[in-house]
Amino acid sequence: LSERLSGVFDRLTKQGALSDEDVKTALREVRVALLEADVSLPVARDFVAKVQEQATGQAVTKSVTPGQQVVKIVHDALIDVLKGDSDPGKLKIDNPPAPILMVGLQGSGKTTTTAKLAKRLKERDGKRVLMASLDTNRPAAMEQLAILGNQIGVDTLPIVKGEDPVQIAKRAKTQASLGGYDVYMLDTAGRLHIDAELIAQAAAVRDVANPRETLLVVDGLTGQDAVNVATEFDDKIGVTGVVLTRMDGDGRGGAALSMRAVTGKPIRFVGLGEKMDAIETFEPDRIAGRILGMGDIVALVEKAQETIEAEQAERMMKRMMKGQFNMNDLRMQLEQMLQMGGMQGMMGMMPGMGKMAKQVEEAGFDDKILKQQIALIQSMTKRERANPQILQASRKKRIAAGSGMEVSDLNKLLKMHRQMGDMMKKMGRMGKGKMLRQAMK
Ligand code: GDP
Ligand code: MG
Repeated sequence: LSERLSGVFDRLTKQGALSDEDVKTALREVRVALLEADVSLPVARDFVAKVQEQATGQAVTKSVTPGQQVVKIVHDALIDVLKGDSDPGKLKIDNPPAPILMVGLQGSGKTTTTAKLAKRLKERDGKRVLMASLDTNRPAAMEQLAILGNQIGVDTLPIVKGEDPVQIAKRAKTQASLGGYDVYMLDTAGRLHIDAELIAQAAAVRDVANPRETLLVVDGLTGQDAVNVATEFDDKIGVTGVVLTRMDGDGRGGAALSMRAVTGKPIRFVGLGEKMDAIETFEPDRIAGRILGMGDIVALVEKAQETIEAEQAERMMKRMMKGQFNMNDLRMQLEQMLQMGGMQGMMGMMPGMGKMAKQVEEAGFDDKILKQQIALIQSMTKRERANPQILQASRKKRIAAGSGMEVSDLNKLLKMHRQMGDMMKKMGRMGKGKMLRQAMK
């Protein structure tokens, strides 16, 4: 059995880098997946071309196929494109009363989303919100907002017959100021299709209200069309973000990618049903998985990559125990520390280490220092990293200067490396059994 297993590994490790052909073959399938998810054709084409360039020549993780590797690369690239603001769910609502304008086609989910967001602002942020319906085309639409307001305990602007949207917006503004509201939300009328009158109306309201946020509500089930709508609204009104509704349906959400790629506007929220709580902050990795529809493969590659990292760590451990602990090893450790949220983060996670984390913090041993130390190691030559004893004063000066630090910083790093090396040698000599016993004491 072990013979057979090692055979498999031989074959897999020989894969090396992704060839042009590997990438092309895999990307053909990716393109189909994107189109099936309703990503618009030009966006899918551009995206695939970009990934093709990125992916060719990249290393293939041991134990996954080139095709699987490409899927993982595509997945990460998707997240990159989809990712907008660092905090999409944070609405700009300083300087009360802050106006939020909701625009979009009829039936896209504007009224529902208005109420959902009002509820969120009230419950999560403790804000006082006033909602106003500007939908003078359909009296029922005004009623609809009033009913939702009642249901979630958020005030709505009293309905006055005969006003136009601009008049209602003005009244909402006055009412919000007088009533001491933090936010007022303007739910505009939509049309089935975008037209000049709809845009003119929305623009007039915008000029009166001067909104802090203009959110475009788009039905996530409409693919290509969503992009045209978004482009048009953004050109004419200027939007600050997009809400994708009906993502609870079985659409794959390709509109998200198209919209990001074409308009560059961040997707802020995702609607997940008709209920008032069915809204979430946009999460690029979730939508990426859905668009691609290859979540299993992505998970598999991630697992393989983790395994490799664990193997590397184990090899390093073995070398260290033998007293072969060089600067590359130290750098790997420092990088891992950074990844785990730095010293404080790591210690904070360990039970009983809270106090020590605080001391570390006070000593100023933070992420910045970790990064500086990594920079110092990077400035060394390969030979120096393998054997730091050969460093002479002149080289030390150059290295310190090259990474914007003092020679004393470098000396500290070298001392730390020596001490760690000594400690590990000792641990190695003790042997594993003894170490375990020691740890149990
Ligand atoms: P508006 O014309 O843009 O104001 O759209 P509405 O808010 O009146 O919504 C139209 C319909 O879509 C209503 O029946 C809503 O309940 C429904 N709706 C809105 N958002 C979502 C969503 O995220 N998921 C689902 N399944 N339905 C939604
Ligand atoms: Mg409506």
